[in-house]
Amino acid sequence: MIIFKRIKDLQNHLKPLIKNGKQLGFVPTMGALHQGHLSLIKRSKAARNLTICSIFVNPTQFNDKTDFDKYPVTIDKDIEMLHDGGCDILFLPTVKEMYPHGFGNAKAINFGFLAQTLEGEHRPGHFDGMAQIVEKLLKATTPHKLYMGQKDYQQQLIVQQLIKKRRLKTKLITVDTMREKDGLAMSSRNVRLDKEARKLAVELSKALRWVKSEKSKGKGEIQKIQEKARQKLEKKKEITLEYFEIRNAETLEPPTGKKEKLVALVAAKIGGVRLIDNMRLN
Ligand code: AMP
Repeated sequence: MIIFKRIKDLQNHLKPLIKNGKQLGFVPTMGALHQGHLSLIKRSKAARNLTICSIFVNPTQFNDKTDFDKYPVTIDKDIEMLHDGGCDILFLPTVKEMYPHGFGNAKAINFGFLAQTLEGEHRPGHFDGMAQIVEKLLKATTPHKLYMGQKDYQQQLIVQQLIKKRRLKTKLITVDTMREKDGLAMSSRNVRLDKEARKLAVELSKALRWVKSEKSKGKGEIQKIQEKARQKLEKKKEITLEYFEIRNAETLEPPTGKKEKLVALVAAKIGGVRLIDNMRLN
């Protein structure tokens, strides 16, 4: 695996490969890698792409400074995992490389409701920062395919819009969420959960699964199922629920009651760690 820290060096390396017809697959990450991240690398490898992973903890997408300061950094282990996973290239830029003119002079795209609801409401500015860095990374790496996780459901919907609005030449592939044996969605933040919080964290995926099963049995109205799921989580006083919502799977608007694809999404703080998860319901 070759490691590049500068955009110029990366592009000089990629140019002849692209010219020779190599297909590039790109997996952007913030590091502290786990099997979920590796599943994206594997998907890219399986499609015979020359696979590029980036690790960059992007300051502009953290609305909470403590969250940024506490974000786990395990770079040596990450490099080992990527190497063992067969990743071809690691792009490891500095903040200066990605933001040579400082923060805040980018023209933000207006994603409308899609970026204002759920995570957008609870993490103001998060999606502007995310879209800003994803665009920069896509321009630096010029991939044919971009691999992202369903774990960050709203993020992948917004990136799809970003690609469309900026007319970027890449195809987004969304990969299913990898889970621990008990159902907890794998996340870099899970290492910050203490024993008690780790035990409780499973309640999020349990609530999502319960909603899916109620829905598939055709049991009652969506609104009522949603309310019951909220109550189940709110009963546990160590869980601070931010939202539990059933929404249209494409627009994230509340359900209309007509036939449509739905997704249930949850965000909660457990033991001081903010976790998100989601599940498609049909
Ligand atoms: P992050 O490092 O958290 O920014 O995540 C980098 C990429 O990995 C994003 O596209 C995430 O959606 C994806 N990802 C994170 N957790 C998982 C998981 N448990 N399963 C699959 N993909 C994931």
